[in-house]
Amino acid sequence: MTKPKRMQNRVLNVKSIHKSFSSVTAVDDISFSVEQGDIFAFLGPNGAGKTTTLRILLDIIKADKGQIEWNLDGRVNQWPQANQIGYLPEERGLYLDVPILKSLVYLASIRGMDKKAAKKSALEWLERLGLADRAKEKLQVLSKGNQQKIQFVASILHKPAFAILDEPFSGLDPLNQEIFIDFIKEINKQGTTILLSAHQMQLVEKTAHKIFLINKGKALYNGELSGIYDTYGNHQVIELRFKSSFDKEALNTIKDVIHIDVVDDSLAKLTFDQHKDMKSILSALTVINSDFDISSYKPSLHDIYLNLVKTN
Ligand code: ATP
Repeated sequence: MTKPKRMQNRVLNVKSIHKSFSSVTAVDDISFSVEQGDIFAFLGPNGAGKTTTLRILLDIIKADKGQIEWNLDGRVNQWPQANQIGYLPEERGLYLDVPILKSLVYLASIRGMDKKAAKKSALEWLERLGLADRAKEKLQVLSKGNQQKIQFVASILHKPAFAILDEPFSGLDPLNQEIFIDFIKEINKQGTTILLSAHQMQLVEKTAHKIFLINKGKALYNGELSGIYDTYGNHQVIELRFKSSFDKEALNTIKDVIHIDVVDDSLAKLTFDQHKDMKSILSALTVINSDFDISSYKPSLHDIYLNLVKTN
């Protein structure tokens, strides 16, 4: 079955933006574009420049150099209208001492939504999130994960054309993370283009069409998710599970190993070229004197990410 083609209207075009904070270069010549209908994921380690970039896009902070073009209504603008954008900030931004429903309706109404429709939609979302009975409570009494759910609803209730979600999975348990993947896909199908940042590679793999990998303010990869496997996934990962302590130094003497990741005291992952056959890998592993179980697999986004970030 051929995949349905997503529309290819460029709704955001970012050209060569730079941002420094005194001695720190947070964003160093970043360019990318987002097409209508994309789920575009920003990935990178702590301090890589993700939040700074997202804040620049929303004019919360100014870039030192570079250009941003938004086009959400058929015209090119430097900044979008408030009703066109949904923003889930990294730091929680909602009123903690206001009843949840009141807060949600107010925020949607200042972004152009009719109050009655906002209340109906907010109640539906609260129902889906299992929080309908908490509607009149103040946000501050909710758990961290539940506050995150409300924050998410606040960012998309007014059905924005473009949602910027800074770490939407943060604070959520594994079950809720999966539920949020479905929510993100659902609002995307309903017409919201999504730009998100995240640290959970296995969730990004299930959600995003395109990824932008940033490290130390610079782009390491910018393109289709599938393309990163084609470009950097031409390896095989050999996982060694040790039954007792092992000599980590011995791993460095293994022939033809491309990358070594000592995960903990009983697990190491070794990356080899995809064409290296198992017989010669096993022969190379004879330099290890401890017992281990072995398995092999194609690199995941998580593996590729670690390889790229550690070597750049
Ligand atoms: P994380 O995954 O930890 O949220 P990030 O990729 O979002 O990280 P940023 O918050 O964009 O990273 O930070 C990039 C760099 O810019 C960091 O070194 C950070 O300390 C620095 N930085 C960000 N904001 C400021 C600021 N207001 N003043 C000084 N330095 C800042």
